[in-house]
Amino acid sequence: MRKFTRLDTPDVLLELDAKTEKARWQMYGERYAQQRATHPSFEFQWPQISSKKLNQHLLPHLMAMTDDHCSYCDGFPLKRGDDTIDHFHPKTNPAFYSEVCKWENLYISCKHCQDSKGSKFEKVLLRPDEIEFHFNRYFIYDYIEHTISPNPFASEDEQYRAQKTIEIFDLKHKSLCVSRRHAYQRYVSDTDPVLSDYNFRFMFE
Ligand SMILES: [Zn+2]
Repeated sequence: MRKFTRLDTPDVLLELDAKTEKARWQMYGERYAQQRATHPSFEFQWPQISSKKLNQHLLPHLMAMTDDHCSYCDGFPLKRGDDTIDHFHPKTNPAFYSEVCKWENLYISCKHCQDSKGSKFEKVLLRPDEIEFHFNRYFIYDYIEHTISPNPFASEDEQYRAQKTIEIFDLKHKSLCVSRRHAYQRYVSDTDPVLSDYNFRFMFE
């Protein structure tokens, strides 16, 4: 997980809905909550706005914040099908229906992270765009095994948050360790590395 700064809410979410005079994101959240109340199995679909689905409007904004990397594992490049939008507060949890189109709740995510997280959620889960977040504050990187662990010098609470984040996104998965090892080997033999071209950039910072 690498820190990024969240950009302002895109206009497409802030524009007022002509009928309800509410911002689109708010109106979609309320509508989804009503639909789920009537049909508990109702599945969320991104609304259509001027010939494009809302997620297609949002993807360029989300990708710009992470330089096209996964928000959670920093995987790159994101292949087709990997560029999905994760709802940090799960959209299947009634407490979060209203956040289904809320900008701060949306993260570009690779398939690994999206599938690992699923509808799981813990209050302590770290967000890469938290003001105080920094990889080194919460995690340490093992340059031999290429695994990630909670930073033993962090507070007990911070270590717990790091541990839960590793578990929920399955950040110790073998395939991720192998990919990180490959990225590391490429990076150290690159005479003029461009950081944004690499995945798992937290290990070089
Ligand atoms: Zn990922």
